[in-house]
Amino acid sequence: MGRDDLTIGCHLSSSKGYLAMAQQALALGGNTFQFFTRNPRGGRAKDIDPVDVTAFHEFCAENGIERILAHAPYTLNPCSAKEETREFARITLADDMMRMESTPGQLYNMHPGSATGQPLDTAIAQITDALNQCMLKGGSTTVLLETMAGKGSEVGGGFEELAAIIAGVNEQERMGVCLDTCHVWEAGYDIVDDLDGVLEEFDRTIGLDRLRAIHLNDSKNPRSAHKDRHERIGEGHIGFAALAAIVNHPKLQGIPFFLETPQEDLQGYAEEIARLREAYENASE
Ligand code: FE
Ligand code: FE
Ligand code: ZN
Repeated sequence: MGRDDLTIGCHLSSSKGYLAMAQQALALGGNTFQFFTRNPRGGRAKDIDPVDVTAFHEFCAENGIERILAHAPYTLNPCSAKEETREFARITLADDMMRMESTPGQLYNMHPGSATGQPLDTAIAQITDALNQCMLKGGSTTVLLETMAGKGSEVGGGFEELAAIIAGVNEQERMGVCLDTCHVWEAGYDIVDDLDGVLEEFDRTIGLDRLRAIHLNDSKNPRSAHKDRHERIGEGHIGFAALAAIVNHPKLQGIPFFLETPQEDLQGYAEEIARLREAYENASE
């Protein structure tokens, strides 16, 4: 079939810098990775080391790493009922947008936020406003909104909510979506028995051209659980076959895949990457 190589990797710690992450990704059999831009609970980010970034870019060019995915701290809530929480989200987002320019043209994923008792349309307007204030004019980063499990008052459990946020953003061409398989499953989308139907619905509401990254996770829960509990690939309610079908789906070719599965050590990721690569290569023959 002559398909391109699978782009796959996992979430890595950013504590040792960019070059260390790229080396780690390669050592695990991956060719991409995800990382938090700062402590996942928020707070100040470490200064970016220009020597590290230069070495990282050289290493990526030599080793075929083209795509990386930054993840915003998950405590960021641009649609909180509290103004000080919204303000903190905007300050963090703006700072992250500046930092992302040291790795130009990459992807930045964020959870849309939790409405915390506010009406949905208020929350959506606040998220849109935050993006319009924080995305850099002439910037090169594509911002991805992650599909959520619909836990509590989370925004983004339904595709139409993500579409509504994107519709209000000025920088339309730099907005995309990251689909998390555990989250969409727990939000109620049947990616096990009706993957084609789910992708058609995604295409109708958001547009498949906006799908720029996939978080590949199994789920500890049955469909529509709205709990957001990741499981290792093949050990949960989604199962290996359905996740392999996602990696192999003709409409999802070229999209990078990122594992965020619970592991005791990084070797667990290496095993999952190898298994998924094998499923991809077998389907290519
Ligand atoms: Fe996430
Ligand atoms: Fe995720
Ligand atoms: Zn999750």
